[in-house]
Amino acid sequence: MRCPSCDVDMVVLEGEDQTLRKCSDCGGLWVDVSDLNRMLLHHNLPGLESIGGKVDPDAMCGQCTDCLVDLVRVVTGDKSNPMSYDTCESCGGIFLEAEFTDATDATNYAGAKKEIIDFFTRWSSKGKKRVAAHA
Ligand SMILES: [Zn+2]
Ligand SMILES: [Zn+2]
Repeated sequence: MRCPSCDVDMVVLEGEDQTLRKCSDCGGLWVDVSDLNRMLLHHNLPGLESIGGKVDPDAMCGQCTDCLVDLVRVVTGDKSNPMSYDTCESCGGIFLEAEFTDATDATNYAGAKKEIIDFFTRWSSKGKKRVAAHA
């Protein structure tokens, strides 16, 4: 598939039993929702359903190039600690953008997976009073 944001072909990163797609242009990551949830739970992080969030009807999102439907922007967190991601309601794909720009170790599956875990760890720990120093 192509990047919903840049419309360039995404690089396929094969993992154990999961596949990530990464845009070499913007650094955005595309991951299946069930794969993402498995990843989060494996790292003792809340799954996407328990994170919740609401759809931002005004957001300008790209299109899922597999399903040819517009992505939906889901916003969660509070004002001081917002998080958002785009999702395809047809195939359940999740597009995480921008956060992942320029990570040099993210051209392989392990690096990309680490970025995703880091992103959600950072986000889910921000609301707490004591934030563990991030290595
Ligand atoms: Zn892109
Ligand atoms: Zn789709």
